[in-house]
Amino acid sequence: MLNIVFLGPPGAGKGTQAKIVCEKLGIPQISTGDMLRSAIANQTETGLKAKTFMDAGQLVPDEVVIALVKERLAMDDCKKGYILDGFPRTVEQAEALQTFAKLDAVVDLDVADEVLVKRLSGRRVCPLCGAPYHVDRLNGEKSCKVDGTPLIQRDDDKPETVLSRLEVYHKKTAPLIDFYKNAGLLHSIGGDLTLEEISAEILKVLEASK
Ligand code: AMP
Repeated sequence: MLNIVFLGPPGAGKGTQAKIVCEKLGIPQISTGDMLRSAIANQTETGLKAKTFMDAGQLVPDEVVIALVKERLAMDDCKKGYILDGFPRTVEQAEALQTFAKLDAVVDLDVADEVLVKRLSGRRVCPLCGAPYHVDRLNGEKSCKVDGTPLIQRDDDKPETVLSRLEVYHKKTAPLIDFYKNAGLLHSIGGDLTLEEISAEILKVLEASK
């Protein structure tokens, strides 16, 4: 059983890597961003609270996401381990997490800001299955390769919002690197590797954390 956190700025590839590693290990991927987007789509109370923050590239209040994650981690499928993708994002969230979860490893994906801006503002996603694409590799194609749904740009991937998300990351989330270093849990992986190399590095780190 491995309880893992994926840390890193928006656009570092947390979601992509979490999906690959979760499939390999047979454990659930718990993405607070995905949970919040589905809460908004379903117009739940949480969704209504979260929407304005998300559209502005700001963090959703700690108590809202903490409650969401606490409830999710209590479900049966998390008993065999999980990857938290996008949580915690503040020291307060990390402290709350300590009270209801015991982590085995924190993987930090380290990518330079210039690369993140290019990746996020060129990102397109399938609104149905969530598959991510980049305009540079789409060759004008406008639909999802998996299910044919027209691709969209997330509201918070618009250029002005991307910059505020990075600012928020540096101010509120980057301090977690030291938080988890001090806890002896941190493994940093450089972002200049290929997608496959990063997955291999992560799996190596996790194997050693067992
Ligand atoms: P993501 O898909 O992980 O990039 O998350 C998209 C947006 O959801 C973020 O910009 C935040 O507004 C919100 N969000 C996701 N996870 C958290 C979190 N742990 N704490 C606060 N806000 C979050």
